[in-house]
Amino acid sequence: MKDKKTVSFSKNSTNIFFHILTNCNLSCRYCYINKKQHGKNTLPIETIKTWLDAFAGKSEFANVIFLGGEPTLHPDLFLAVKHAKKTGYKSVTIDTNGYLFNEILLKTGPEEVDCMSFSLDGATRRTNDLLRGKGSYDKCILGIKDAVSKGFNTSLIYTVSSANIDELDKIEELLSDLGVGRFFIQVIGIRGMTAKRGSQENPQVSRLKWLDVIPATARKVARRGISVTYPKVFLNRDERFECAGLVADNYFVFPNGRVYRCPLCEDYPVHSMEFEGNMLVKTGKINETDMFGLSIPEGCVMNRLIQPGNLSYKKDGTPEYKIACCLLKEEIAAGE
Ligand code: SF4
Ligand code: SF4
Repeated sequence: MKDKKTVSFSKNSTNIFFHILTNCNLSCRYCYINKKQHGKNTLPIETIKTWLDAFAGKSEFANVIFLGGEPTLHPDLFLAVKHAKKTGYKSVTIDTNGYLFNEILLKTGPEEVDCMSFSLDGATRRTNDLLRGKGSYDKCILGIKDAVSKGFNTSLIYTVSSANIDELDKIEELLSDLGVGRFFIQVIGIRGMTAKRGSQENPQVSRLKWLDVIPATARKVARRGISVTYPKVFLNRDERFECAGLVADNYFVFPNGRVYRCPLCEDYPVHSMEFEGNMLVKTGKINETDMFGLSIPEGCVMNRLIQPGNLSYKKDGTPEYKIACCLLKEEIAAGE
């Protein structure tokens, strides 16, 4: 059996995480969207097309992931998908909560959408609906079945927190039954609604628990013929730390024009670029890029600043381990 593989950052491919609106039909407990920072507007289709064009030329291999809020609430999402394909984006993904508004599965097809990615935060109805709202489990499962029956490649995103990590032993069967092709594990970040809740609860998972559950789950799922990607999160002290803001080409675009290079920065007005009208321009100092080059023993600077609850120190004050860039992933191919 082959083992997991750490996916290196690459400047050769450009990834656009395009929030075309922030509106959503759900109110998830750990929603990462911060409307105070990113507004409430829905981008007109002409603006979406122009902004897509602005990134398309950045590399031969540009990928776009349409996000919200719930992106299928946008009545013209299908036109955005067609435009991305026409302008040469290598892959187009739609991240959805499964409600699939505006008949998106009928207005697009598997030849245009490389992956329909569904979010579920529990392997059972009870846990998922506690976190994402009543009825959201059933709706998501129906949505996945519909997409699979129409020939779309599908993936499932599971954001791991202390509220749902213990259900991961049930996920492999669910994924297999549904015919999902890829499984993405995410780790909860302290931003959006989670940051707003403050110290009322800490949904972060300890290093021991993470290492105990996540790699083993990933291997079991992969053995069922489903590719698995999960964040590395914890680095040993001798492992190399890299910040994606310096060595990768990712853009997190919001409908108020802000463009971030680091998702952990999204709760703050420290974006390094923004659209002024339809021109993509750099912002002035101080912004997120001023943090990317800082070297601290804890690894990721933003993690240290906004969610230090996942750090642990020795008696002499040195950190026991480092926190990896939140974008650093491990991958296990299907069947391995
Ligand atoms: S996490 Fe996603 S599905 Fe849930 S409320 Fe936020 S945008 Fe909507
Ligand atoms: S999460 Fe940390 S390491 Fe990754 S891009 Fe942001 S600041 Fe850099």
